[in-house]
Amino acid sequence: MHRYQVLMVLLYAAASAAAAEFSGARALEDTRRVVAFGPRPPGSPELAKTRAYILQQLRPTGCLPVKDAFVATVPGGTLAMENVICRFPGKSGKAVAFTGHYDSKFLPGENFVAANDGGSSTGFLIELARALARMPRVHDVYLAWFDGEEAIRQWSATDGLHGSRHLAEKWKADGTLARLVALVNVDMIGDKDLGLLNEQNSDAGVRKLLWNVAADLGFGRHFLTTPNWIEDDHMPFVRLGAPAADLIDFDYGPQNSYWHTASDTPDKLAASSFDVVGKVLLEFLRNAEAGALPPRAAKQ
Ligand SMILES: [Zn+2]
Repeated sequence: MHRYQVLMVLLYAAASAAAAEFSGARALEDTRRVVAFGPRPPGSPELAKTRAYILQQLRPTGCLPVKDAFVATVPGGTLAMENVICRFPGKSGKAVAFTGHYDSKFLPGENFVAANDGGSSTGFLIELARALARMPRVHDVYLAWFDGEEAIRQWSATDGLHGSRHLAEKWKADGTLARLVALVNVDMIGDKDLGLLNEQNSDAGVRKLLWNVAADLGFGRHFLTTPNWIEDDHMPFVRLGAPAADLIDFDYGPQNSYWHTASDTPDKLAASSFDVVGKVLLEFLRNAEAGALPPRAAKQ
């Protein structure tokens, strides 16, 4: 074996060891715990329980909580909301963020427990914190669980994405946005039949690195090629010029029939899907920290 090949094998072994520490089974278990609280719309006691559960799980990881309570303007008035944010401090001055939402859509009269749509992102990010706790730090790594992703009444520019719109503005004002080399948002990533959209509002450089890493790890079949356009929690950051991307599987059950219905239950999810996304994001982070992303255009 050539010396270069030996080095590559060693590097690959190191990468696999780090990536292997993400447990899709544990992420799915966290998702089940959260789903057991019941429907979790913004402002509900069940969402407060979910917030407490996330914070409790974060404690042993050493990810430092950042309080982010705010008052959202919603149809007919205002509503107190709270993003859950934590930070692993790095050394480079740059930052990477992994985000997702933890609220569930308020569907009156339905037992909508949102296992995939709100549950999977919650459980996924908790397990990601555990894996990150065991990795060496270069950049600051932020994890954010958004409140109010779902529209309180009807999806519009002013209803929906409440938590991410709030945080994007806050991070613009405090300079965090300018330090971001990448933000990756995850949504509905637990589906047994995982197919992540090639979402074109997403930053091209971040998307390319995600797709390349997935192909290198042998997960290319889950990263679709057909272009699609989705409005999700990455958009407020994209609009402010940040290098943000979205990983979403928007084909959930026959004709998307599990989406926003009482059929969105944990039996539709698979640990292997969480595993794919976890391994890809950890490897993505290693690449980003090694300088794989092109310098971002300053546009703020
Ligand atoms: Zn939804």
